[in-house]
Amino acid sequence: METTALKYDFRSDTVTRPSAAMRAAMAAAEVGDDVFGDDPTVKRLEARVAELIGKEAGLFVPSGTQSNLIALMTHCERGDEYIVGQQAHCYRWEAGGAAVLGSIQPQPLENAADGTLALADIEAAIKPDDPHFARTRLLALENTIGGKILPTGYVLAATALAKRHNLACHLDGARLLNAAVALGTPAATLAQPFDTVSVCLSKGLGAPVGSVLAGSKAAIARARRWRKMLGGGMRQAGVLAAAGLYALEHNVERLAQDHANARALAQGLAKLPGLTVTEPDTNIVFVGVDAAIAPAFAAHLAQHGIGVVSTYGSTRQRWVTHLDVDAAAVQEALSIASQFARQS
Ligand SMILES: *Cc1c(COP(=O)(O)O)cnc(C)c1O
Repeated sequence: METTALKYDFRSDTVTRPSAAMRAAMAAAEVGDDVFGDDPTVKRLEARVAELIGKEAGLFVPSGTQSNLIALMTHCERGDEYIVGQQAHCYRWEAGGAAVLGSIQPQPLENAADGTLALADIEAAIKPDDPHFARTRLLALENTIGGKILPTGYVLAATALAKRHNLACHLDGARLLNAAVALGTPAATLAQPFDTVSVCLSKGLGAPVGSVLAGSKAAIARARRWRKMLGGGMRQAGVLAAAGLYALEHNVERLAQDHANARALAQGLAKLPGLTVTEPDTNIVFVGVDAAIAPAFAAHLAQHGIGVVSTYGSTRQRWVTHLDVDAAAVQEALSIASQFARQS
């Protein structure tokens, strides 16, 4: 079964593999042709996520990228514009899909260190109704963003500002359930100010495939047409939806364990010389590595089968905790990292 040389894979929470019990649920799924609206398991998943997020309807889609694109196309027409963070997944990490496939102009704004967009910047970016300008239609926020939880008061203020200007609000909530578990707040409460919310099943929840976009019945009916156009209409998709249902039943509360593991990892790494560690809100730990040791430290981790995402010449690392790295794996990784500190 092991196909990777990595013993401890902290690159992303997307690397989780479906467990035996999840696979059993997939194998047993009742299915039909979902493009005809006939797949009972997909319908159950869509209803379950809609309920969890506190919206009227849900739409099961193959990926978070497609979910965000569908949401943008649901709110914006050709020549419209959405306000979004420079660091937002739906601006920076989705291959420019909104512009290429939606003819939607992004208006990116700087994210502050806590992931927020300054309210004054948002207000200044909203264009007046004038033929010189694209029509500003939507504010897109992300929670968690880089593993950070957006302050709840900020979210309320930003979405209220957007609504005063008749903008719709979309939340990229790929890891919204991490925020909900970490805060002890229902996901529906965090999702309430938004018209549409996208949630990933294939990150910390451990399903192999899929996201759900939730919103009003009218928005999801429009979204369903875009999903078909973008090639996201799937047939006997109940085998995939069953994994999502299993994940929602078994893998939500346990996200707290990932968060505890991330804190332990952060505390352990912070003790090592040459590393600057950002205290994690949820399951993502960012580590700054002194340039003098960066290549050697990266090589040491790789040699010992530890996978992390390294950028900027290995001076910035991202470690993500998830279902497939338990507390023992974190301790093992810390002991390997501290070996490096002792040797150098
Ligand atoms: C992973 C992720 C997505 C995209 O999900 P894919 O299924 O990989 O396309 C969108 N937004 C955020 C914040 C993510 O972390």
